[in-house]
Amino acid sequence: MSTLVSRWPLLGQRRSLVVYLVGLVIVDLVAIVAFAATTAFRWADVLTFAALMGCGAACIEATRRLGVPAGVSRDLLSAWWLPVALLLPPVYALFAPIVLQVLAQWRVRATVLHRRVVTAAAIGLAGCAASVVFHWFVSDPAALSRGECGAIALAAGAALVFALLNTALIAIAAHTADPEVPWRDVLWDRESVLLDVVELCLGVIVAVATSLSLTLLIITLPPVVLLQRSLLHAQLQAAARTDPKTGLLNAAAWQREADTEIVRARRTGETLALLIIDIDHFKRVNDRHGHLVGDQVLAGVATTLRSQLRDYDVVGRFGGEEFVVLLPGADLHEARQVAERLRNRISRTAVTADEALVTVTISAGVAIMSVHGDDLIELLAAADLALYRAKELGRDRICVPAVQPPPPQIPEAPPAA
Ligand code: GH3
Ligand code: MG
Ligand code: MG
Repeated sequence: MSTLVSRWPLLGQRRSLVVYLVGLVIVDLVAIVAFAATTAFRWADVLTFAALMGCGAACIEATRRLGVPAGVSRDLLSAWWLPVALLLPPVYALFAPIVLQVLAQWRVRATVLHRRVVTAAAIGLAGCAASVVFHWFVSDPAALSRGECGAIALAAGAALVFALLNTALIAIAAHTADPEVPWRDVLWDRESVLLDVVELCLGVIVAVATSLSLTLLIITLPPVVLLQRSLLHAQLQAAARTDPKTGLLNAAAWQREADTEIVRARRTGETLALLIIDIDHFKRVNDRHGHLVGDQVLAGVATTLRSQLRDYDVVGRFGGEEFVVLLPGADLHEARQVAERLRNRISRTAVTADEALVTVTISAGVAIMSVHGDDLIELLAAADLALYRAKELGRDRICVPAVQPPPPQIPEAPPAA
């Protein structure tokens, strides 16, 4: 069974997710057969399809050397398949993502096959729906080349249908994979919505240009490639700052941001607190439930930390099962309150494993700027000592460093008379 799962990672997923993904692919295949059977073959359509896919391929080739960030990443390839949906019969919209996903798998990165297949099916179905909607209202797509406002508005509307349906299909998969993630998180992401708007605009512009003349694609290609490269660049930069297991800042990025905050606090005279948080007896979790469950616990703790802190608090994974938090503006009283709240929340967060619920507790050390240290190294050392004390005192608690009493003032000897 385990070799089967390593060969077909889809089988290792939740059953409800497997059912959903297989269902999606079957609906896509049925749509391909149904639309192919009812579509009249025209050489002009094939030529337009080939030209747009050629642009998509050029886009992939021009950016593949930059690499791709791990996990979910975004691209601007819909600039090419949206015109396919708007200008050609719906069956072409079902084929377009298959062509580009095969190319991405071959030329960019050989990733888990089922992910490519499902992505192609979701984009294909969303594109097909957009195509059906557009052709329902606009019988002659050449209206786009005449710049008719109604046709352009309907093209934007169809592109919106594409974005909404694609987001919904992927969000259902994400929610089925992890039902504990709230719907709002899988459906709404400001950056992602902004990108959808850019894709929508690009798709409509490229569609209008293509309907005017296929040669105009030569002019639209360079700006789309440039946008695609800068988007990838931004995603790679973000990935280099992030710890992939928890989504928090990695140690190097956290130290850079923490240093900046400390310099600012010193300049403005504001207070600032630092917490080092360590999961108690984490080795036992790994030993009892395995590393995969251990990883889920780490991700769960990270989510709780993020949800309980303010946007401008700096949270990072320091390494292993240790986290660091910088609380700008917090004094000792507030920092202890925050740390206690985190301890409380984390002890109430459970991860499901082998039909059992896994819970963990944390210990934390707190250090305050100007009281326990004046720079990052001193604050980290002070908080680490406090953490060590919390562990010694029995874990599941918050400790503050014992402040060294100021050295006794030795009265100066009176001058000899
Ligand atoms: P203590 O209460 O004293 O902190 O005990 P502990 O078991 O948490 O501490 P210890 O340092 O002995 O063990 C930390 C464990 O964390 C050992 C290591 O296998 C585990 N660990 C470190 N990084 C990861 C990771 O990324 N994933 C998983 N699953 N485990 C990790
Ligand atoms: Mg540790
Ligand atoms: Mg530990």
